[in-house]
Formats: sequence, structure tokens, C-alpha cells
Amino acid sequence: MRIDVVTLFPGMFEGPMSESIIKRAQEAEVLDLRITDLRDYTKDKHRKVDDRPFGGGAGMVIRAEVVFDCLDAMELAPGARVILTDPQGVTFDQKLAIELSEAPQLVFLCGHYEGFDERVREHLVTDEISIGDYVLTGGELPAMVMIDSVVRLLPGAVGKIESTHEDSFYAGILDYPHYTRPESYRDWEVPEILRSGNHQAIARWRREQALLRTFERRPDLLDRAPLSKDDRKFLRERCGWESPV
Ligand code: SAM
Repeated sequence: MRIDVVTLFPGMFEGPMSESIIKRAQEAEVLDLRITDLRDYTKDKHRKVDDRPFGGGAGMVIRAEVVFDCLDAMELAPGARVILTDPQGVTFDQKLAIELSEAPQLVFLCGHYEGFDERVREHLVTDEISIGDYVLTGGELPAMVMIDSVVRLLPGAVGKIESTHEDSFYAGILDYPHYTRPESYRDWEVPEILRSGNHQAIARWRREQALLRTFERRPDLLDRAPLSKDDRKFLRERCGWESPV
């Protein structure tokens, strides 16, 4: 997958995008990540990209022309998603991460100051995405959050892609608890069943733990999760949960 980031602060990407899974994905050529400095596309001799807002008021606005020139110079694959990082956008979640991981190319536009001239939103972007109901200084951290969660879903990025399918939210519920050696630590034991070698029983225990956690922490997810007859029976008998449908 090709991912482009358009930013005024390319240096912010140096550490996070060159470690761990993102680093390996680039080395394995699963990910072609290109960071573009928006200032390279300004015609201003002082490399200025923003201007004062029409109508007055505080803050500076990034000019539309610079952003259009930057994207005109970029090769966009058919089906590319041009994403405006924006606290006013739809809230990013795992479902959207899965959807974006299937696109041929993602372009992240990282705002700063008061953000971009509205005409960028109106005529250039395909998606406006927020990472939550709070306001950050710029779109760089949101872009990195989204890139990280998308890249780990690409085939070849993590050792076993199936492991991502058991993560929280992937199949609509939370993940089950994990343990490793030693079996006993400060008198706290690893559940017996995980040491039993009975793979079927372990799989069922994990499923039940995932359902229990979801019921306790995020019951709202259960209403939308794809649940089997056994799952529903377990939740009804163990937690008194009733499906709304
Ligand atoms: N004036 C804007 C508003 O109130 O909607 C906020 C601008 S913010 C200071 C500057 C930039 O940070 C935004 O253009 C956007 O790119 C990014 N940003 C801030 N919070 C964000 C969030 N929760 N999700 C995604 N991007 C965010």
C-alpha cells in the first residue's frame, strides 16, 4: 500500500514511522510511505503556506492553492482516499481501519493552526476523519495513529495476520486475557485451562472471556457484534444479557 502524508512538520514522523511493525512493513515493501513537506509547494519566497482568515479573528488558515498544487504533483492511484485529519470528521474506529486497509493509496492531510481553507474540504478530500472528541495542535499525531492501525492489518506486516483478527474490535467484541510464563507469580496462577493442552476447551474459554469482558466494559458493542447461538446462550445464562433483536 502507498501512504502519503502532507505535513508542515515532516520531522515529527521520523521516530514513530521508523520503528517496529511500520519499519518492518516498509522493509518488506508492504508499505510505501512518503512524507511530503507542504512548504515545498508554496510559491512564497519565505515558504509561508498560511494567511489570515477572511472576516477577521484569531489564528491562521492554510491556503488552498498550496494543497491543490501539492496533490496535483502527486500520482494518485484510482480509488485513492484523500483524508483530511479533522476533529469535525467521522470518528476513527477499527471498522474504518479495515476499510482503509483495503484502499490502494491513502493520502493524509495534516492541518495546523485553524486548519485548511474550506475549499480543500469541499473539493479535494474524500474523507474527513477525527481520532476523538478533543482538539490537538495538528493532524500529525492523528495521521500516525491511523497509519499504525491500518498498516498492521496489511498482509505481510505482522507475523500472523490472524492475530489481528482476535484483537479488540476486529470481530466486534473485546480481546480475551493473555498470560505467559511463569505459571505462578506472587501466588497468582495462570488459569488451569490454558495449561490443559485441550485446544477446543481453550478456544471456548477465550471466547467466553472475550464476551464477559465486552459485557462488563463495553456492553454497547454486544448489540452490534456478530454473535453465535452459543455466544448468546452464554451471555444470557451468565450475565442475564438479552439481545435487543
Ligand atoms: N479550528 C479547528 C476546529 O475547532 O475544528 C481545530 C483546528 S486544530 C487546532 C488544527 C488541526 O489539527 C486540524 O486542522 C486537524 O488537522 C488536526 N486535529 C486536531 N484535533 C484533531 C482530532 N481530534 N482528530 C483529527 N485531527 C485533529
